[in-house]
Order: sequence, then structure tokens, then C-alpha cells
Amino acid sequence: MKLTVLGCNGPYPAAGGACSGYLLEAGDTRVLLDCGAGTLAALTARMAPEQLSAVVLSHLHYDHMSDMLPLIYRMQGKGKLPVYAPDAPAEVRGLLAGAFDLRELEHAEHIGALTLSVLPVRHPVPCYAVRYTAGGKSFCYTGDTNTCEGLTAWARDCDLLLADACFTDAQWAENKPHLSARLAARMARDAGAKRLVLTHFTPGTDQAELLSQAREVYPQALLAHPGLELEF
Ligand SMILES: [Zn+2]
Ligand SMILES: [Zn+2]
Repeated sequence: MKLTVLGCNGPYPAAGGACSGYLLEAGDTRVLLDCGAGTLAALTARMAPEQLSAVVLSHLHYDHMSDMLPLIYRMQGKGKLPVYAPDAPAEVRGLLAGAFDLRELEHAEHIGALTLSVLPVRHPVPCYAVRYTAGGKSFCYTGDTNTCEGLTAWARDCDLLLADACFTDAQWAENKPHLSARLAARMARDAGAKRLVLTHFTPGTDQAELLSQAREVYPQALLAHPGLELEF
């Protein structure tokens, strides 16, 4: 499997950056995971979007789906791309209905060579963590979440964990919508994840601080950045 980071900001892009978007490849299967602002340009620099097997949107916050709107124009006359997304908020999902082969992420099980394991997580709108398995390797992406029952078990022994690590220790609280870098690292350690990539960076947050707090718990933690490619 191969993961390429297209964008890793939220809830808006940094100067020259992009919001959440990741390309996951397994053999001939190519899936775009989230499609925030700036990711369509980054994807198109690597491949034609119409050659995607599917798009999986962890949730329908704008920083994870806004580039789906110009993708509607790009896909005109090229067939309906399968798009897996939560069933709410209905007004956002409604923007995609008709233009794409829109499916419910909650019930997704297979995309090409990939087998999916979907877990509802804790965020202000319905959001799903998805584990992708192919050829004995597995990749886990948390989507946006704070601490959530079942998350560590869901990530057990994965080869790569891509985790929401939005907050420093000082910024994090139990009632906020995201994990801290330290809590993401704790999850990776407790799950026995072989690699950890931190993501969802708010412009202005000190990423070196996020990394050092994560590495106190999980010394091999990495920061996502646009263009990062990992094979596993
Ligand atoms: Zn987000
Ligand atoms: Zn969100």
C-alpha cells in the first residue's frame, strides 16, 4: 500500500497549503480519502481524478469535502465516481447527490482490493474512522475525532496510523472536537501501530510542539506534510 499526503490542514488551509486529503493506493485501487480545499489540485498533479476507484469522505465538514464541488465539473461526462460519505448533514450531502454515485460510508465493506472496517467516532457531525486492509497490510485513518471508545482496538497492530493530532496539550480538552498529538501517540502506542503520522494542523499551531509532545509517548511519530509519501 502507498499513502500520499495531499493536504493536512484544518479547518482552513495554510498559505500555500491544503486541507485534509490523502491518496491511498493498493495495486490498481486508488482511493481519495477526504477532499478538502486545495487537494484536488494536488491530486490532479499526480493522476487524473477520473481514474480514482472511489472517494471516501470521513465526514461532511467543509475542510474535508469542499473540493468535491469543483470535482463535479471535472467529472462531467466521465461517469459517476463512487463516493462514500456519512448520511448527514443532509444539506451538505445533498450538494453531492446526483453528481456522484453517492453511498453510505457506514455500510462500506470493499473498494477494489481494499477491505474496509468502519468505526463511528466522536465529532460534532457524523464521522467515521476507516481501517483499510489489503494483502496483509492495514492502514488506519481516524478522520476527525476526540477520544472515542473502541478507537485503540480498531487500530490494533496496523501498519500505518494517520491520526487527528490537532491540539497541543494546552489546547486540548475533553469536550473539544479533536485529539491532541499526545493522545494520538498514546493510541498508536497502545494499539501497537507500526507507524504513526500526525495530521490536521491548524495554521499557526506550533507543529514542532505537537511532534515533541507525541514523541514523548511514541518516539517514531511523524508530521504529515503535503507531498509526503509512505509505502508499507
Ligand atoms: Zn477537520
Ligand atoms: Zn471536522
